[in-house]
Amino acid sequence: MKSIVVTPRVQGSLKLMDMDIPQVGEKEVLLKVLKVGVCGTDRDIIAGFYGEAPEGSSYLVIGHESLCRIEEVGSGVDTFRKGELVVPTVRRNCPENCESCRNGMSDMCLTGHYKEHGIKQLHGFAREYAISDSGFVVKLPESLSDAGILLEPLTIVEKGISVSYAMQNSRLPWRPERAIVLGAGPVGLLATAVLRLKGLEVDTVATRPEDSLKARLAEQTGASYINAAKNPLATLESRYDLVLEVTGNVSVAVEAQKLARVNGIVSYLGIYKETTATEDAGKIFTDLVLGNRVYFGSVNANKKYFQAGVDDLIRIQQEWSGFLGKMITKRVRPEGLSEAYGPVGPDGIKNIIEF
Ligand SMILES: [Zn+2]
Ligand SMILES: [Zn+2]
Repeated sequence: MKSIVVTPRVQGSLKLMDMDIPQVGEKEVLLKVLKVGVCGTDRDIIAGFYGEAPEGSSYLVIGHESLCRIEEVGSGVDTFRKGELVVPTVRRNCPENCESCRNGMSDMCLTGHYKEHGIKQLHGFAREYAISDSGFVVKLPESLSDAGILLEPLTIVEKGISVSYAMQNSRLPWRPERAIVLGAGPVGLLATAVLRLKGLEVDTVATRPEDSLKARLAEQTGASYINAAKNPLATLESRYDLVLEVTGNVSVAVEAQKLARVNGIVSYLGIYKETTATEDAGKIFTDLVLGNRVYFGSVNANKKYFQAGVDDLIRIQQEWSGFLGKMITKRVRPEGLSEAYGPVGPDGIKNIIEF
């Protein structure tokens, strides 16, 4: 079967390889992969920045965003049937089975020894058939047989927003009215939609023009689009209850802190290049304290957020017809892998590979 692999830490090693169909274990499911999504994590792995092959393998099958059908179930699995539409989560418990992992929260793993499909020590889903532990798989309705490929990026948003609400509600009577989303790629647009579903006024910021697809999609949900090329972040007021930073850009991340109002919260969902601080750290911490602000980071998502994401994908489809489909701006076959993993382009949003 066709598989898309890399030699971890070797730049430019991306290739299509023939592999045997894996054998399903007792508690596992064999997945027929319909689609995989491509994101910055895949591009970083291809560039050789990170990625780790499974033990005993010299290569890693990439792909962590997928949409699959159950092909076969292990002898100890009675929760799935052949043909069901599913998405497997990405992260698996650490060998120590730490307290977080033990309680279904491998996204909060304490040891750091967790494994991740397509990223760290487990083969990914960019192949015709893949294997997953059946305990980490969620079912989707047939209405998501295309848009379901956006579930994994949506779970990052679900976690960031859900944790923001939980933290705020635990410390004050919180009635958020206004949110700002920094970035209008797949994660930014999905965050915009989820916050609009919650009834918040949302400003979505990116550097594309007002007539770009990103701007139009943000506006379809009733959000306002701000073109940062014309209206720099530094000129915006500190008036937001919730700030979601998804660009992964360090200077945007610093500006994000200044946008939160008193008692506000800033959620960081990007990966930032290490840099020497040029900002006044004293001011950052004083603003944090005097404004009762919360700045926090959030990575990965457990099964609970995948289940919440399925519900929100259904609601987004009902509210804003065509929104999810328009986010998928390039579809290629596995043979077109260099096109799929190449740059998404200024008006591209999400590249996917269809098996
Ligand atoms: Zn991803
Ligand atoms: Zn753990």
